[in-house]
Amino acid sequence: MELAKAYNQLLQRVQAACKRVGRNTSDIRLVAVSKTVGTDIIRQAYELGIRDFGENRAQDLRDKAGLLPGDINWHFIGHLQTNKIKYVAPKAVLIHSLDSWELACAISDYCEKHNLTVQALLQVNASGEVSKYGVPVDRAEKIFLRIYKELPNIRLRGLMTMAPLTEDESVIRQTFRKLKQLQEKLETRIPIGSLDILSMGMTHDFEIAIEEGSTMIRVGTALFGTRRR
Ligand SMILES: *Cc1c(COP(=O)(O)O)cnc(C)c1O
Repeated sequence: MELAKAYNQLLQRVQAACKRVGRNTSDIRLVAVSKTVGTDIIRQAYELGIRDFGENRAQDLRDKAGLLPGDINWHFIGHLQTNKIKYVAPKAVLIHSLDSWELACAISDYCEKHNLTVQALLQVNASGEVSKYGVPVDRAEKIFLRIYKELPNIRLRGLMTMAPLTEDESVIRQTFRKLKQLQEKLETRIPIGSLDILSMGMTHDFEIAIEEGSTMIRVGTALFGTRRR
């Protein structure tokens, strides 16, 4: 499908989902997941007005950021190995996939050395699947607060999760609900408004995510078509 048409359809679906639950479309930020997508296509998306793109490989983010307009907001959404922090920290506006205390410490060390701060989300394994990255729900509060209090170079903005790949809508909904509940719990422990991002929802499930309180959806396939690798 043509990109402009796919984008329009996506925006309409976002709007419809918002309407169902009385939310404002301006409260939902779209991150166009451009992993495996070439810079020519990303440029087309940029021409349509998209400014937020998500990559899951560190070198790809660095390379694409070097080739494309400077006003693009690059989001890192993949598992980050400590030796690749250097590719991501200087370029990413938001790291969605902060998934352990150890990684947080390594990012913090890098930032201290280079006089940087990064914004990040704590990735939570809200579905409990063993295959998923992210901190377990029952440890998330403690790890979040520790990063929040002890690592000033990391500005934690909220939480991210991935739902299981299933046709069972209630399972997906429960996963997103858990993340929302965790956000509400954390908001009683830190200053109001400082935990404002809930990154949840992909092509398969972004409408459910919006209904459950997502503020940031990460959509690849619905925009760019099915990936090859
Ligand atoms: C690939 C990916 C997405 C986008 O998935 P689609 O199903 O193509 O929309 C979102 N989030 C993460 C973490 C991903 O790796």
